[in-house]
Amino acid sequence: MVVKVDHIGIAVSSLEESLKLYTDALGMTLHGTETVEEQKVKTAFLPLGETEIELLESTAPDGPIGKFIESRGQGIQHIAFRVDDIEAALAELKAKGIRLIDEKPRYGAGGAKIAFLHPKATNGVLIELCQRD
Ligand code: ZN
Repeated sequence: MVVKVDHIGIAVSSLEESLKLYTDALGMTLHGTETVEEQKVKTAFLPLGETEIELLESTAPDGPIGKFIESRGQGIQHIAFRVDDIEAALAELKAKGIRLIDEKPRYGAGGAKIAFLHPKATNGVLIELCQRD
């Protein structure tokens, strides 16, 4: 079902501050930033080989990233697996009894279709499915 690690999502307090580490120190290239209002988040994408690092800064304290940093601090927030057909993948997981946060895909940064599995169904790891056309 899943074909590769699409990206790793990292919650940060400040994109500007964090980007210094990923670009200046680690030598990665910033591919772009995007604000996804619906999720109250500003994202920065840094491609790395077959995958990407996605930095996530909250635009509001009550957003999912704001709440994550409030309770757990900065750090790895989710791992995203690429799928070819997200609707089919969600239907298959549901049929297998896996609890989902999103039963239908929603808009993700970069025009991707994304959906999250419930962390209670995944041993505490927030797993995102991601389809890019
Ligand atoms: Zn993501």
